[in-house]
Amino acid sequence: THFGFQTIKESEKTNEVYTVFENVANYYDIMNDTMSMGIHRIWKDIFIQELGPTHGTHLLDSAGGTGDITFRYMNFLKNTPNPQAIRSSVTVCDINQHMLDVGKERANRLGLSQDTNCSITWKQENAENFSFPEESFTAYTIAFGIRNITYADKVLSEAYRVLQPGGRFLCLEFSHINNGALQWLYDQYSFQIIPVMGHLITGQWKAYQYLVESIRRFPKQEDFKDMIQTAGFRNVTYKNLTYGMVAIHSGFKL
Ligand code: SAM
Repeated sequence: THFGFQTIKESEKTNEVYTVFENVANYYDIMNDTMSMGIHRIWKDIFIQELGPTHGTHLLDSAGGTGDITFRYMNFLKNTPNPQAIRSSVTVCDINQHMLDVGKERANRLGLSQDTNCSITWKQENAENFSFPEESFTAYTIAFGIRNITYADKVLSEAYRVLQPGGRFLCLEFSHINNGALQWLYDQYSFQIIPVMGHLITGQWKAYQYLVESIRRFPKQEDFKDMIQTAGFRNVTYKNLTYGMVAIHSGFKL
């Protein structure tokens, strides 16, 4: 393209994405903080508030990477009174073992690996094709993941399959800005600054070019909502955060 970006062909996307995250796994958390100036933490906090888990939730954190959503979920539960000591669980899935390894270390450091009320399982899985039986979970989250996956429709139908009736689907993803001035600033930042920062910190220019391009190509809020409905989910809604820089899409298996 005009910017010299390479478009990743569908057939190569899974491998390319794998390499991207393999290369950045050790820098992933620091890069998120640097590039978003810490804002991703606020988005993720809002995301968990929106999920509002109760004790007894069995969450599948899909494309869960190094565990950011999982840890927030566990902390949310810790801060919710649990007089009957009802147990919850979370299964963190990612296609990339390197990301999961970094996540496990973080869980140990945070003292979350041995939580008595919420068990945590790390599992290498492809979100397009899980090994779990149907109706295994009561909630499904995917944060900054679906955009990276070759067949988003397969991800959605798998989410539907593994959720129990009444289960909640919640997705946090970069989306499309609804404010002209902010869009301009965001474009400058994405095209001029992000790849340079990515290169300086991780030595990976291409990985961060890929990031910017994948955000542009991801469906608009309404179109993504339609896709979620097509997968079978009901009461599908979305919420824009930061003028649509990211959006939270929600749906129920009813
Ligand atoms: N959810 C985490 C967070 O919010 O920090 C990680 C997000 S990270 C940007 C995207 C993750 O998606 C990576 O860890 C990558 O390995 C994973 N991923 C990519 N393709 C996948 C697939 N087909 N199945 C499962 N995970 C996948």
